[in-house]
Amino acid sequence: MSNASAPILEMHHVGKAFAGNPVLRDINLSVHPGEIVTLIGPSGSGKTTALRCMNFLEAYDQGEVLIKGQLLGYSGNLRGKAHTDSPALIAEVRRPLAMVFQQFNLWPHMTVLENVVAPLVLGKKMPRHAAKHAAMTALNQVGMAQKASDWPVRLSGGQQQRVGIARALALEPELLLLDEPTSALDPERVEEVLDVIRSLAKQGMTMVMVTHEMAFAAHISSRLVFMADGYIVESGSPRQLFTQPESERLRIFLAPLF
Ligand code: ADP
Repeated sequence: MSNASAPILEMHHVGKAFAGNPVLRDINLSVHPGEIVTLIGPSGSGKTTALRCMNFLEAYDQGEVLIKGQLLGYSGNLRGKAHTDSPALIAEVRRPLAMVFQQFNLWPHMTVLENVVAPLVLGKKMPRHAAKHAAMTALNQVGMAQKASDWPVRLSGGQQQRVGIARALALEPELLLLDEPTSALDPERVEEVLDVIRSLAKQGMTMVMVTHEMAFAAHISSRLVFMADGYIVESGSPRQLFTQPESERLRIFLAPLF
């Protein structure tokens, strides 16, 4: 039988400390195909670190992260101690994932097209002509195909982020991770990026996102995960969390919105 409903991502009891300070504590989370999971919570609560542990941009030091059932980053039972897997194996396990960064992270010395092509050629080992085709398709999807030969510095922040999204989409991810994709943008540029994310949602893209755009999060998410002090305090549907918050922490967090 197909396992279409098997989780793409699982976190089991994930913990992480920076210089002895715990920033993630006992994080348990599964993401299934088609879900849009949004991490919310006060600044410093561990949302971005949790997202970065999902693809091993940050090494977790307790628990397990599984991508499509495969352990990410650590083989066997050696966590926190000896053995971290080779970069090649990590890249292989996290292949179903792609990430969109807060600061876009475009290479300034490459054109828009090359920014999208490079990961396909270097990472995915795609032939250049196929990579160019895939890149143009992705740029088209975010409305940036006409800027393919421009330099990133010529673009607005919103346009740069749309290229950042295209670069991730060209990898054909099964799960897209978005780390505060609009928080580095001028207010008038936020909506164009949210529109792109909305269109991905309509197409059924599975996503885990960190955002402070609460109205957007409430509208788009199948599940909200509220974090505070490195813990997942509550999670549930937006309706559940907005109308029946169980914890005082969440009530306090949501209060300014009403
Ligand atoms: P959020 O995304 O909820 O704002 P973060 O995951 O960015 O929270 O940060 C959680 C905590 O971890 C914060 O106290 C932050 O200062 C700390 N932190 C994040 N990254 C690092 C790092 N690379 N080195 C040291 N401390 C860090």
